[in-house]
Amino acid sequence: MKILVLNSGSSSIKFRLFSVSDGDWQVAASGAVTRLGEEGASVRLSWSDASGEARAREEAAEIGSHHAGIERIVASLQDTGALGGIDELGAVGHRVVHGGEAFHAPTLVDDDVIAAIRQMIPLAPLHNPANLDGILVARELFPGVPQVAVFDTAFHQTMPRTAYRYAIPGYLYREHHVRRYGFHGTSHHYVAKAAARRLGKPLSQCNLITLHLGNGASATAIRDGASVDTSMGMTPLEGLVMGSRCGDIDPAVHFYLCRHLGFDNDTLDDLLNRQSGLVGLCGVNDMREVHRLAEAGNEDAELALGVTCHRLRKYIGAYAAVLGHVDALVFTGGIGENDAEVRRCACADLTQLGIALDAEANARAQGSLEVISSADSRVAVLVVPTDEELEIGRQALEAIDRS
Ligand code: ADP
Repeated sequence: MKILVLNSGSSSIKFRLFSVSDGDWQVAASGAVTRLGEEGASVRLSWSDASGEARAREEAAEIGSHHAGIERIVASLQDTGALGGIDELGAVGHRVVHGGEAFHAPTLVDDDVIAAIRQMIPLAPLHNPANLDGILVARELFPGVPQVAVFDTAFHQTMPRTAYRYAIPGYLYREHHVRRYGFHGTSHHYVAKAAARRLGKPLSQCNLITLHLGNGASATAIRDGASVDTSMGMTPLEGLVMGSRCGDIDPAVHFYLCRHLGFDNDTLDDLLNRQSGLVGLCGVNDMREVHRLAEAGNEDAELALGVTCHRLRKYIGAYAAVLGHVDALVFTGGIGENDAEVRRCACADLTQLGIALDAEANARAQGSLEVISSADSRVAVLVVPTDEELEIGRQALEAIDRS
């Protein structure tokens, strides 16, 4: 059986096709349509040919809509032999960013689910419309194939009220849904399961702090396998310092900017979501570039690293307090998996919290599952590569089995 995973964004559609047999998941093909609706759109595809050799190709194409993009993906998959026919598909798993309070788990798509995802658009105006387009097109192109929506917010629906409510008047929550939801749930859940396996305990007996550090970044406190707090809020802007997002900031900065500099909603949105974080502090959003600049003596880049790591340490400390007992601290995402210096800085002098790194293991760990804590560290520290597509595929299949 094949399972197709679609991550349909506003300007790109990423996809992964899995071949599943007896619980074994192999990647049959993967790729993306990029610059959707713009000049220079292209389709990238990697797959294994009949002899098992890795192949890749990229084709320029005029792709003006999600419909055209997904049609093109299917044509490429069939053309290369990665997908024999649509009847091979057991399910399509869709990444959906915002499931609000309606969705606690992956959900088989029907008309009511589509209506609910549509209702959530005001909470995620940049993401949910594109996610929904992907679902609608897939329903049309793959009639009879179950479609499953897997929500970034679902894993965090176990947060208690004390963690998800903002200290603002209650009607804003009850009537306007203003609360913390949290994101990256699929990744936090995936690495939590992998960490539990490595610790040799059921996830339901593990207390973990998971740090997903990519272009977007978030920390999650997991008690007995369930999310009890996470750093992103009503939107993915709150929390850690990110590539171009500011993370935590005093809301009064907004009033100040409006009153004194004449900012409006759009300029504030652009400032805090796209011109802040690493970009705001030192002009670049790629962490490798930040390191290069810092090593060359650029003080802004040094500061960007310092602010990033200071914020990380604050969240580690806060979540240690939330959890009381911590079994493991888990690093994932492009930075978490590869950046030994950020991990070192985030964990330095935390022996009071029971966290101590093995400097050599930390320096070595790159892109594979490793334990990087020292033998006497009370808290295990792990690097766990995330795989959101695999998790979406697995959760899609589980949702079908459950139904
Ligand atoms: P996204 O959130 O877009 O999925 P990723 O998880 O791919 O992002 O993470 C992207 C970030 O990871 C970038 O800041 C990039 O610089 C960083 N990164 C990737 N590889 C390394 C590396 N070897 N060392 C430091 N940072 C890295």
